[in-house]
Amino acid sequence: MFTAARFVRQVTSRLSAPGINIRCMSAVPQPQTNPDVHCNKLFINNEWVDAASGKTFATVNPSTEEVITEVAEADKADVDLAVKAANEAFRLGSPWRTMDASERGNLLNRLADLIERDRAYLASLETLDNGKPYQVAFAADLALTIQHYRYYAGWADKIHGQTIPADGNNFAYTRQEPVGVCGQIIPWNFPLLMQAWKLGPALAAGCCVVMKVAEQTPLTALYIADLIKEAGFPPGVVNVLSGFGPTAGGAVASHPDIVKVAFTGSTEVGRIIQETASSNCKKVTLELGGKSPNIILADADMSTAVETAHQALFFNHGQCCTAGSRTFVEEGIYDEFVERSAERAKNKVVGDPFNAKSEQGPQVDKDQFDKILGLIGSGKTEGATLVTGGSRAHDRGYFIQPTVFSNVTDEMTIAREEIFGPVMQILKFKNLNDIIERANNTEYGLAAGVMTKDIEKALYIANSLRAGTVWVNTYNQFQSQLPFGGFKESGTGREKGSAGLEPYLETKTVIINMIEKNS
Ligand code: NAD
Ligand code: MG
Repeated sequence: MFTAARFVRQVTSRLSAPGINIRCMSAVPQPQTNPDVHCNKLFINNEWVDAASGKTFATVNPSTEEVITEVAEADKADVDLAVKAANEAFRLGSPWRTMDASERGNLLNRLADLIERDRAYLASLETLDNGKPYQVAFAADLALTIQHYRYYAGWADKIHGQTIPADGNNFAYTRQEPVGVCGQIIPWNFPLLMQAWKLGPALAAGCCVVMKVAEQTPLTALYIADLIKEAGFPPGVVNVLSGFGPTAGGAVASHPDIVKVAFTGSTEVGRIIQETASSNCKKVTLELGGKSPNIILADADMSTAVETAHQALFFNHGQCCTAGSRTFVEEGIYDEFVERSAERAKNKVVGDPFNAKSEQGPQVDKDQFDKILGLIGSGKTEGATLVTGGSRAHDRGYFIQPTVFSNVTDEMTIAREEIFGPVMQILKFKNLNDIIERANNTEYGLAAGVMTKDIEKALYIANSLRAGTVWVNTYNQFQSQLPFGGFKESGTGREKGSAGLEPYLETKTVIINMIEKNS
């Protein structure tokens, strides 16, 4: 079993946490520090094409602020072409619609094989475009991506309906049919994994896809499109477009020939998508923001709690929708917890993500970098105590010092807004009743954590929190078989697991009136 949190422990060798069964990990091969980039056009109908407008935009290496390459900029005309190709691929009698379900599973497994073959290249490209440490990209993002395609490959020939004892002389059964052509819009924090979370269930279900990738990190998702063709998926089944949100993304969300849209990103844009998608009553799944509470009780093992809470917030430079960004600590251990958390953050190695010693690379782009520094400023002016960090790191690239605030109170901006950066807020609580209400006092409801040795308290808290995932004595576990999604404004619908298939399926009921035996 692989988890992002466990991987980080393995690679950094900083923790020997009691109770955590650390598995041997195969060696991470050397990165390609200057990976060749050759997929930078639009992937429509299994062909690489320029944007109809001829426009391109730059994708930037966040470690150096230098342009990596120009990428085709899709707009409405390109989305129209991609949707046409996807609808053609979904036509009754097409190779995709007549393909055996088990063969769809084989194709997904072949895609996973090709990703494994090119794993070091893909991890290197992800590091170049996104800035996450190569070691993390290789062992976390790529491992989870491969696992995810294989998980849904297994589902392809296990999706079936029921026979139902209808009243009267009727025979009734249901079929689980693919919903049709889906639009999928993904973010930049886990480009390969977010692509896998969306493509895996859609393809297992037999849908066709038009995917709009994030403008900050288009390169790996485009390369996967090349592997999709190599794996043998028929033309038009998957179309991958690079472009911007309001233009290309907007065209996907509003397209009349797309029947379902899946989005991961900010709550703000999620609202726009939901509204736009309502024009033709699209089915919508949204994976949005969070401000997740991570509750540390006084009986928790201090070293484990400090490290787990550290990873809960700092994993992927804080750029996780699930980040444990409100660390609530019981008052008896508060001061020691703050001191040790600050020490851990201060010792974090921030730098070139291709260097194996780096634990933290740059934030993804200048917008995020500026937004995070602005929120750090608000923490200072609103009266939180800056214990460590608080500024940029290095004079080139979007690096930010691991930052810890203590004496944070519930109404401060840094305790309410999603920061999406390496900034930890530590809040104090007195007792169980006080903490449940405070933890739930947010418009979000994506995830939560609890650290305690007391199983009764753990269960009480886990059952009381309004969140789609609750981790007890662990954090950020993302195995494919576990459903994931948000309560409240953190989203609608679930991804992963069998629940992740449901949005891609329609139930059809067939009722057959039987001939009377004696008529
Ligand atoms: P965003 O929501 O703007 O972008 C996510 C995706 O949506 C991208 O592909 C983008 O091009 C697209 N998009 C943007 N506007 C659109 C529109 N009007 N119509 C259709 N598609 C549109 O996120 P961002 O600007 O990259 O980051 C802003 C904040 O969002 C971050 O600081 C963070 O708080 C949050 N965020 C959350 C996640 C997550 O995993 N839930 C991921 C990325 C960002
Ligand atoms: Mg980039």
